[in-house]
Amino acid sequence: MSFFDELDSGLTARELALVRDTERFCTEVLAPRLAQARSRGEPCERTVIAQWAALGMLGLQVPEEGGGFGASFLCKVRIAQTMAGHGFAAAFCLNNMQGMATRLWRHGSAVQKERLLPGLLSGRLIGAPAMSEPTAGSDLTQLRSQAVRTEGGWLLDGSKAWVSNGAIANLLMVLARTTAADGSQAIAGFLVEPEAGKAFAATPHELPGAMEFRLAEIRFAQHFVPDWALIHAPGEAFRASMEAINAARVHVAAMCTGSLHAALCTAVAYCGLRTAFGQPLLAHQGLQWALAEVAARLEAANALVVKAARRIDAGTCGPELAASAKKIAVQTATEGIEQCIRAMGAVGATAPSGLVALASEVRLAAFADGSTEMLNDRIGRGLAAAYPSALARGEQQGAQQP
Ligand SMILES: Cc1cc2nc3c(=O)[nH]c(=O)nc-3n(C[C@H](O)[C@H](O)[C@H](O)COP(=O)(O)OP(=O)(O)OC[C@H]3O[C@@H](n4cnc5c(N)ncnc54)[C@H](O)[C@@H]3O)c2cc1C
Repeated sequence: MSFFDELDSGLTARELALVRDTERFCTEVLAPRLAQARSRGEPCERTVIAQWAALGMLGLQVPEEGGGFGASFLCKVRIAQTMAGHGFAAAFCLNNMQGMATRLWRHGSAVQKERLLPGLLSGRLIGAPAMSEPTAGSDLTQLRSQAVRTEGGWLLDGSKAWVSNGAIANLLMVLARTTAADGSQAIAGFLVEPEAGKAFAATPHELPGAMEFRLAEIRFAQHFVPDWALIHAPGEAFRASMEAINAARVHVAAMCTGSLHAALCTAVAYCGLRTAFGQPLLAHQGLQWALAEVAARLEAANALVVKAARRIDAGTCGPELAASAKKIAVQTATEGIEQCIRAMGAVGATAPSGLVALASEVRLAAFADGSTEMLNDRIGRGLAAAYPSALARGEQQGAQQP
């Protein structure tokens, strides 16, 4: 059994063909462009987005009637894993764009779909969720951005931080606070085109080794958002964002195991060829066991990812499972890639190995879509329900007896 067999066994023939298209895209386009970009110390050329869009991949989960492929979440995860083997951040951002099209299809009005979906599918519109703020990350209830009613729409003020692809995004799903006539406050979601109003230019966040995320802060000042662009009514936006969070977490977890799988393959191949003290590095028990530990942990983390991904498709993935998959995958990949770098000696730390780039990008997975501490909190809150003691169960049953 190869690493991907378990996941592939759940895909249709059409989805498997999409995986093959992705592999070709990665070999012919993504990998060489990433290598060039990294050597220049810049993010990848934007033409990569157009080439990915030309394959129809930005509509991966949009149904065929909407111009997409209607693929399963399992397929999305498999494709993301393949891409993340070449670049975690590139996979994250390209798949984020695809996620925006899916979200628009599921929650958008007919007008919103007509105006925006073609642009999202073609890659002309680069979409990103904009929830976090300079003063509100883990605790989104603290967000300060305000949308105030005006004739024909809303005026938006505030700052959004850590927007993936934010340096080039031209369609944001912005969460902002609204105030009703009776003074009550709620959070609403808006589809905002920064270039169409008074958004201040995006300021990139400086992240050494992780510029491929193109993370940026975007500030709005009296930015007009028309009525038709309200996607989540006041009071509904927070719930809608939390509904999507389980899938987002499993998706990030999958990319982590995809990146670690690629790093381990690189390390095993190198250590099988490089000799020291008369035999291949891989034949030295100390080093072999270190990589065996990485492999065993990778398989365990990936099993959790596959289980959670299947449950997302079935609609039965609880928050604890999604949080556990991401927590374990991030930790396993972060530590595992470092071990792979060490196993290769100084060569592991060179740019051509690609491992340092993966390590720098995967490290940030610990924050995206919920920090590890927030995931612990989520898992912790479900402990009593998930692991009831036999004693407590017996007492409950006993109490019910007359
Ligand atoms: C690569 C990347 C991509 C991202 N993409 C997007 C995007 O597209 N859109 C978007 O809106 N946001 C995005 N984010 C932002 C991300 O959602 C936030 O980084 C995350 O929510 C954490 O917020 P923070 O960084 O402000 O940390 P803070 O909330 O300030 O937390 C700082 C530290 O304190 C810990 N902490 C906080 N509260 C508790 C607690 N109660 N108990 C214990 N520890 C606690 C956190 O775990 C963290 O370690 C992205 C971030 C990254 C790194």
